[in-house]
Amino acid sequence: MIIVLKAGTAGREIAQVEEKIKSYGLTAHVSRGVERTIIGAIGDERKMQPEAFEGMECVEKVLRILKPYKIVSRDFQKEDTVVTVRGQRIGGGTVALFAGPCSVEGREMMLGIGEKVASSGASFLRGGAFKPRTSPYAFQGLGEEGLRCLAEAREATGLPVATELMDPRDIDLVGRYADVIQIGARNMQNFRLLTEVGRLDKPVILKRGMSATIMEWLMSAEYIASEGNRQIILCERGVRTFETATRNTFDVSAIPVLKSLSHLPVIADPSHATGKMSLVEPLAAAAIAAGADGVMVEVHHDPETALSDGPQSLRPEAFREMVGRLKGIAVAMGKKLGNA
Ligand code: PEP
Ligand code: MN
Repeated sequence: MIIVLKAGTAGREIAQVEEKIKSYGLTAHVSRGVERTIIGAIGDERKMQPEAFEGMECVEKVLRILKPYKIVSRDFQKEDTVVTVRGQRIGGGTVALFAGPCSVEGREMMLGIGEKVASSGASFLRGGAFKPRTSPYAFQGLGEEGLRCLAEAREATGLPVATELMDPRDIDLVGRYADVIQIGARNMQNFRLLTEVGRLDKPVILKRGMSATIMEWLMSAEYIASEGNRQIILCERGVRTFETATRNTFDVSAIPVLKSLSHLPVIADPSHATGKMSLVEPLAAAAIAAGADGVMVEVHHDPETALSDGPQSLRPEAFREMVGRLKGIAVAMGKKLGNA
């Protein structure tokens, strides 16, 4: 960390900054210029918060040298993390294909959609049993009954299931049924929840918060990793912008940016990014071409009557056709698409 002092800072104040740096266990290197004095803090600067110095009267600015996240960074681990669940891979040459309804609406529907997407090449089933809805009057999910439907669909298809955990109080329950735990966009900075899933031995999909920067997102991943769980999958699902033509704005550049900053696998959710079934395929294609390690798509047998997110859900037949076309893009990237 480099601390730039204001012009004319007195020796007494310089000594105070030096003392503060030392109190964190780092060493201070003072260099006096003609107009300015700058102080370099040598050591692991993650122990110090920039605010501790920014609040000092004599400090003009503070520059970080190290990234504030550590375990999830490429500097910490050069090789890509590959997550394998029940024989299905995310990363390492496989573009994982997560598919299923937004909400689990019942046993028949989950089994029906599960069988269809599995036969089309999906490598994971998705479905929400606990739904984060904007309105308290909207369908909130089937809870444990929904988890049981997911488990049955796993038995029937042999595919691992991913489902959202919204509340730390449900962690044991959701953990009993889910192969992959999803942390939704609205909870990306629910630090208590992140800490709890960080203690699990189970892969976690961390969706990007609606207005989170890549730095904030990686810091949230660091919360999970710092508790011991390194099986983290980052999911770009669009961010909120001024644009109203789509539900969110898909940040395709986040994929290569994350791949350079972090070793974690990155997947994309074109369903929530666009909110429109007609836009799911072009964005899924873009995500794979940009280097995504997976795609998560909502599929519903009858989008018009879906209890949540019907307009962005593909019919099973449309999903099958899309997979056929996306396969070629994965191959062009030197990868395989799910089980297609
Ligand atoms: C979902 O995947 O069903 C969901 C609610 O997504 P997000 O958290 O990205 O809005
Ligand atoms: Mn949804």
